Amino acid sequence: MSSLAALRAVLDPAAIVTDPQVLAPHLNDWRGKHQGAALALLRPRTVEEVSAILRWATATRTSVVPQGGNTGLSGGATPDASGAAVVLSLARLNRIRAIDSAGDTLTAEAGCILADVQQAAAANDRLFPLSLGSEGSCQIGGVVATNAGGINVIRYGTVRDLVLGLEYVRADGAVIHGLRPLRKDNAGYALRELVIGSEGTLAIVTAATFRLFPRPRVSATALCGLASPVEALQLLALLRQAAGERISSFELMCDGEMSLTLDLVPGTALPLERRHSWYVFIELADSDASGRVGELLTETLGTALEQGLLQDAAIPQSEAQAKAIWHLRFAVAEANRRAGLSVSHDTSVAVADVPAFIAAVEAMAAERFPEARTLFVGHVGDGNIHVILLFPRETPAERHADLGHAVNAQVFAITSDFGGSPTAEHGIGRSLAGADVACPAGGARAHARGQAGFRSARHPQSRRGARATVKQPCDRGKSPE
Ligand SMILES: Cc1cc2nc3c(=O)[nH]c(=O)nc-3n(C[C@H](O)[C@H](O)[C@H](O)COP(=O)(O)OP(=O)(O)OC[C@H]3O[C@@H](n4cnc5c(N)ncnc54)[C@H](O)[C@@H]3O)c2cc1C
Repeated sequence: MSSLAALRAVLDPAAIVTDPQVLAPHLNDWRGKHQGAALALLRPRTVEEVSAILRWATATRTSVVPQGGNTGLSGGATPDASGAAVVLSLARLNRIRAIDSAGDTLTAEAGCILADVQQAAAANDRLFPLSLGSEGSCQIGGVVATNAGGINVIRYGTVRDLVLGLEYVRADGAVIHGLRPLRKDNAGYALRELVIGSEGTLAIVTAATFRLFPRPRVSATALCGLASPVEALQLLALLRQAAGERISSFELMCDGEMSLTLDLVPGTALPLERRHSWYVFIELADSDASGRVGELLTETLGTALEQGLLQDAAIPQSEAQAKAIWHLRFAVAEANRRAGLSVSHDTSVAVADVPAFIAAVEAMAAERFPEARTLFVGHVGDGNIHVILLFPRETPAERHADLGHAVNAQVFAITSDFGGSPTAEHGIGRSLAGADVACPAGGARAHARGQAGFRSARHPQSRRGARATVKQPCDRGKSPE
């Protein structure tokens, strides 16, 4: 009996898709940098079906690539080219199981779209604060598996800070029922912490219980033009003094990235009179309706102007204008995708080191890759800076992989010098798997992420004889990232 025939014996055949047309969108990543093949797409409806799939995969030694909304930026949800893996879509596990207004918690299944979870919380007068440019497509399982960040980390933390309980299925099919809404629990190891951010290498996430927050009653947004990242950090310090925990977003973008976004994404417009070298996007929010966040922001930006930290600022007068400002920020990933050959990074350094890190990357890029435009955008309030080197469209295809590796080596070396991390929120996926990234804390290296059923690119033999498989082996060197 073929392995798929064995699966048909334990899983509703309607959940097993082999039609190439249906499979096709599940075999590429969002950026179009990775392309794979698969035996089938599996679409379970229940946790029991996920468990049956993993038991079958272990018995038949079939690699399983979990996939949520497939918006990941590291290629982790794309199978390899062998065609031997199955893609496990969690999209049909999409119920919000519970909202507890007394305990301020929400329990959602892995296939729920992030925006739907935000709306469900809002309908119960609560805030689910995770917010990403991909929130209309990415799923709960994916954001947990990548420990996603986004624009509100400065105030609410990453997904890890939001998860109270987790339900997941191990490679042997065991279902771990950990959906407890406890705020405090010191009884033994918190194994869920390992699963969060493990990108599908340790288990399949089927549901999570999250903490909710009071819904902001008032908010204020601004887009500021300034001279450099140094002023951006000084502005952040000033704002912290004035607004404290009411700062919910503080994002940085260079003018090159702004240009690209304005040029390539329809519906974007700069609400400032002229261009500036750098921009900061700010949001203050308060759950107290009498909170004076608007005045606070205007006054603080006025002080910043007087102190020479700012060159200009636009403060929207309507929700539509505020949305248009955030559209500019959220459109960056789309602009970069349309721009041609880009090599991008998801670096994290200490907040205070951001200006020096940016200067070091700029100097390196000017010297080593003079043909590239070097762009920066990121969550400066938490030290997460995306570095993008954009090469001319006419760069010959045969140079792409080499350029990617050369840029990576340089940016990783600088990141390491600053004691930073090569991935703040996107994860290792296939893009970084096997990359030689020194990680100062304990000397671990990014390529060595495969404790359970995951082949290290550097030690391919290490998977020989390994048992189960919640991931495909990575294929280094296919992509410029
Ligand atoms: C426009 C845009 C903006 C973005 N902005 C941000 C941002 O600001 N911050 C940020 O952190 N990310 C951002 N991302 C990246 C991406 O949206 C996040 O990584 C998101 O968390 C991925 O969710 P997903 O459901 O699409 O997961 P997928 O892409 O499907 O999968 C991501 C990884 O998780 C694994 N996985 C998926 N589901 C499960 C599951 N149920 N169990 C176990 N493993 C699973 C996959 O195998 C893969 O390794 C952005 C992406 C885009 C396209």
